[in-house]
Amino acid sequence: MPGRSFGPLANRDCPMCGSGRKRTILPDQYYQLADLDRMSVVECEDCSLLFTDPIPTPAWLDAFLNPEVNAPWREPVWTSLEWQKEHSTEKFADGLKIIRKLMPQGTLLDVGTGPGLFVRMAEEAGYDSLGLDVLPEGIKRAVELGIPVLADDPGNNTLEGKFDIVTLWCVVAHEPNFTDLVKPWPRFL
Ligand SMILES: [Zn+2]
Repeated sequence: MPGRSFGPLANRDCPMCGSGRKRTILPDQYYQLADLDRMSVVECEDCSLLFTDPIPTPAWLDAFLNPEVNAPWREPVWTSLEWQKEHSTEKFADGLKIIRKLMPQGTLLDVGTGPGLFVRMAEEAGYDSLGLDVLPEGIKRAVELGIPVLADDPGNNTLEGKFDIVTLWCVVAHEPNFTDLVKPWPRFL
């Protein structure tokens, strides 16, 4: 889909400490399905947080999430376990190695799970796992495949329970308000 944009992006300071001092780690990556919209991964020179910059504006996200504007995002690209396997298996396996060192067993909540590949891999690795996603399409497919997932947003305060581990693959990096995003987490941990 060459030459595609979903709208304006916005530069930002460090979402953790507010510093404007940052250095580029990974330049000029394009957003999936929007090859005119490019971000970099940068590192805060004061607190070392890695984050993406620029990030989507609300108008960009509205277009990106709107199935009338962006049908391919919903079906089948990001609702397909096969697609997720092709693009994320290696990354997820690396993540599980890190989690294994930090916590060899326990319960795991994967937020923004899409079709649930990471939940499946975590289950296979012995973690009692649950996936959440705000979008129903991926969840529907995951349920059909027997992957334990729910269509929910942690900000809704509907989910009960405690987890040893919370993962957010490809969520934090694109979130404009980092502190709002992490507010629900103490309830789960
Ligand atoms: Zn910082």
